[in-house]
Amino acid sequence: MNEIKRVCVYCASSAKIAKKYFDATEQLGKHLVENNVEVVYGGGAVGLMGKLADTVLEHGGEVIGIMPQFMRDVELHHKKVARFHFVGDMHERKKRFLDEADGLIALPGGCGTLEELLEALTLKRLGIFTGPIVILNTDGFYDPLETMLKRCIDENFMAQEHRKMWTTVREPEEILDALREAPTWSKDAIQFATFRK
Ligand code: AMP
Repeated sequence: MNEIKRVCVYCASSAKIAKKYFDATEQLGKHLVENNVEVVYGGGAVGLMGKLADTVLEHGGEVIGIMPQFMRDVELHHKKVARFHFVGDMHERKKRFLDEADGLIALPGGCGTLEELLEALTLKRLGIFTGPIVILNTDGFYDPLETMLKRCIDENFMAQEHRKMWTTVREPEEILDALREAPTWSKDAIQFATFRK
């Protein structure tokens, strides 16, 4: 069983998305606070990022924002989040996300969220990151990505073992258990990262 005290949440910056995504994010925020789990995220003030931080803070939870300085310069940071790390660039931020959290959660999002999620999966495949990763598949949002990754495995771009790198759930309340129960992963994953023949 993985011990989960702090999670990193990748999620949308857009505020122009359907209510169902905000509702799911609010549910997750409450669930994390109820379970005394701290949140690390990109530090944004709007979209699902803003909703997550607002919900966690309103319910007395802990939020840590990690944001590159250039985003702060244009006032993208959430003003109510007191715990902030401003870093040099996007690469440093993503490394910091992984260093700070016991597990990763991907909510629906755009290219930023997808890129963060896929980088985490890539690092896990190489044994560089070994923590649990859970995808929240609200209303089937992530079905096309699941299909893509399944094809990667079916056509040997990835190995069957790589399917164990992430867990997909439908409901926000399932996320913490999925993180806790995720199969252990080790740095030895580098041994089966690539098909040589
Ligand atoms: P996206 O899903 O394309 O909206 O990108 C959101 C993800 O990328 C977040 O998890 C952030 O780490 C990062 N990001 C992209 N845009 C912003 C923004 N405006 N403010 C803060 N973080 C952002």
